[in-house]
Amino acid sequence: MATDRLRYWLSTVDTTQPEEMDCDMLFEMLEVVAEAASAGQDVSELFPAVAIHLAHCPNCQELVDTLVALTAEPTF
Ligand SMILES: [Zn+2]
Repeated sequence: MATDRLRYWLSTVDTTQPEEMDCDMLFEMLEVVAEAASAGQDVSELFPAVAIHLAHCPNCQELVDTLVALTAEPTF
């Protein structure tokens, strides 16, 4: 689980510029973000830095969209 790293990263967000998030960091959070999004949670509220990055990075936006679509797929 990358949760500890994620928590650590989130704890540093307040003291750094959210814009500093890059594609690598987003990629590490991709699953968490997509899970939250497909659960109907507000990504921009949960992960403001992610939302900011996605607004500027069509590539990552597409990744998230794809993963959300996959996650939203019904499982039996
Ligand atoms: Zn990106």
